[in-house]
Amino acid sequence: MLWRFPIARPWEIDLTCIATFIVDENSTLRIADRCSEHVACAGGRPVQSAGKMTFQVDKDQARVHAVTNQSTGYCPEPQSWPQVADAIRKAGLVAPAGFHVNFLLWKCTDCHALNVIKEGVFVCAMCDADLPADWNLA
Ligand SMILES: [Zn+2]
Repeated sequence: MLWRFPIARPWEIDLTCIATFIVDENSTLRIADRCSEHVACAGGRPVQSAGKMTFQVDKDQARVHAVTNQSTGYCPEPQSWPQVADAIRKAGLVAPAGFHVNFLLWKCTDCHALNVIKEGVFVCAMCDADLPADWNLA
């Protein structure tokens, strides 16, 4: 008896892959396994931006599907998008229009808690202190 297994043909496979990324000092895009720490991905060096990047792999090419600035290690500013877009283009890929999700991370000057800003409310979730007007995680 001949068994037939459902084997997907290459053009039927829809692969999505999420990776940790950083943009290093030389505007080079570096990616690592999604579970990797951004600091390890950067080799402990300063970065221009960092986050998660989702790649869509179709047929024989990969494209950047979505990018976020989700990195609690580096807390990059949403304004770091142009550096990310440049690094993506430098890698020979097409950059999306911007970060898919902007994570606005702010540090409380009173209790030093890291806050994710939601709906433009600049109040510390831990101690209710007003957060500083200027981004303070450089
Ligand atoms: Zn606080």
